[in-house]
Amino acid sequence: MRIGVPAEITTGETRVAVTPETAKKLKAQGHTVVIQSGAGVAASVPDEAYVAVGAEIGDAASAYGCDIVLKVRCPLDSEIGLAKAGSVLVGMLNPFDAAGLQRLAAAQLTAFALEAAPRTSRAQSMDVLSSQANIAGYKAVMMAANSYQRFFPMLMTAAGTVKAARVVILGVGVAGLQAIATAKRLGAVIEASDVRPSVKEQVESLGGKFIDVPYETDEEREAAVGVGGYAKPMPPSWLERQKAEVAKRVAQADIVITTALIPGRAAPVLVTEDMVKAMKPGSVIVDLAAPQGGNCPLTEAGKTVVKHGVTLIGETNVPALVAADASALYARNLLDFLKLVISKEGTLTVDLEDDIVAACLMTQAGEIKKK
Ligand code: NAD
Repeated sequence: MRIGVPAEITTGETRVAVTPETAKKLKAQGHTVVIQSGAGVAASVPDEAYVAVGAEIGDAASAYGCDIVLKVRCPLDSEIGLAKAGSVLVGMLNPFDAAGLQRLAAAQLTAFALEAAPRTSRAQSMDVLSSQANIAGYKAVMMAANSYQRFFPMLMTAAGTVKAARVVILGVGVAGLQAIATAKRLGAVIEASDVRPSVKEQVESLGGKFIDVPYETDEEREAAVGVGGYAKPMPPSWLERQKAEVAKRVAQADIVITTALIPGRAAPVLVTEDMVKAMKPGSVIVDLAAPQGGNCPLTEAGKTVVKHGVTLIGETNVPALVAADASALYARNLLDFLKLVISKEGTLTVDLEDDIVAACLMTQAGEIKKK
């Protein structure tokens, strides 16, 4: 089959959906790989690296003219027009954007959104949310360290002792766990909060302290378990008690990294303006939930601002700041997903009996198929 890789034109997007490593494997499987010229440049992959593994270099029209189009972000309207009816599109296509899916359906595309894959062991190797959240968690700590005017580790020097930075992580999914691990490597003292009780052990195993907010009702316990590994909105009673506990920790923190998300909903507010006011001057908040409205109402999406003496980082595409590795992991996720929809004979098969294929299928034959 002909597999096309257009350049990403969404502002700030630096990743590329196929790397020379995965292009080589697709070639070995007998496919033709067409890369739009310059598609990998922002991820440090020049056209020559693709040519070296047997890929063809073309323009946007030739990449979109392929049987299968591999993308990082959902194509913009101007790009959708280049795709041929009946072709397959795979990428991070925003499953909760109904209008966007409608546009893909109208263009007669068979579209798979990888964010919709179930959080199961079999789907792990194609889990783009995890591969990219892992990077975001790491980079969040790097950004915080860069803005923070003090050391992370405790240092005993001839000029006196420097205290270790206190880091509070709110939301301990994939990004939060990586943020804990990264901050720990830098020598910080870490406390973390999440709604899901299973997280406590994971936080402690990474050397952090879990902020315990006991559940008092069956409703609270049930909500905390969530669905399919994801959090559900917690009852206001629990959120109030969590807020009180978090407020105490945030007031003492030097760095706060927030990652709390609930799929398909606005991010929960965990750090209020009063909490920010109570923080020490020079403290830093990195709000990884900025694209979903932020875990702090003072966050400004896409900007770094200073309010009440606290630096708030609202970067909306953190994985794109680690473009080479983010692309490498994403491209491997994509390659693994393709094994489910391309048969050994090299033809397209959309097997709706396969739970991963069925969950990722967004549009087919002009209709929205999202489950
Ligand atoms: P996410 O990005 O959807 O959310 C981040 C974290 O925010 C979650 O841990 C969530 O519980 C937490 N959160 C939501 N509301 C909160 C609140 N009010 N206060 C504090 N925290 C709050 O999560 P994710 O990183 O995508 O991970 C979700 C789950 O899926 C995790 O349990 C993860 O371990 C699991 N997972 C499983 C697999 C697999 O089995 N293949 C793969 C990846 C992730």
